Amino acid sequence: MSFLLTCPNCGVREVTDFGFGGEVSARPGSRPTFRELNTYNYFRRNVAGVQREWWFHRSGCRDWFIAERNTVTNEVLFTARPQEAPAQGGDPAGRSRATATGAGGDLA
Ligand SMILES: [Zn+2]
Repeated sequence: MSFLLTCPNCGVREVTDFGFGGEVSARPGSRPTFRELNTYNYFRRNVAGVQREWWFHRSGCRDWFIAERNTVTNEVLFTARPQEAPAQGGDPAGRSRATATGAGGDLA
């Protein structure tokens, strides 16, 4: 199934332009236990729903970025550079902030 992704640097492109980097997972602390390291390396949540992921613009700027995508519908909720992504679990917050700004602009 093909869908569109918006590279933060290049704009909207076919997903075939990009490489999938897997789901974003929390890095273990500086001195992880074997269990923490094993979990980080080998266990994935693999959700059927909204998931935060790493993507690489293989055929463009060759930069890594974050996307939040519904794995069932392939709807992409947002893409952002890693340092600019809203806090995890805040997909509605990120979107509602943008929406709220727009609504506020309309009301003012
Ligand atoms: Zn790009």
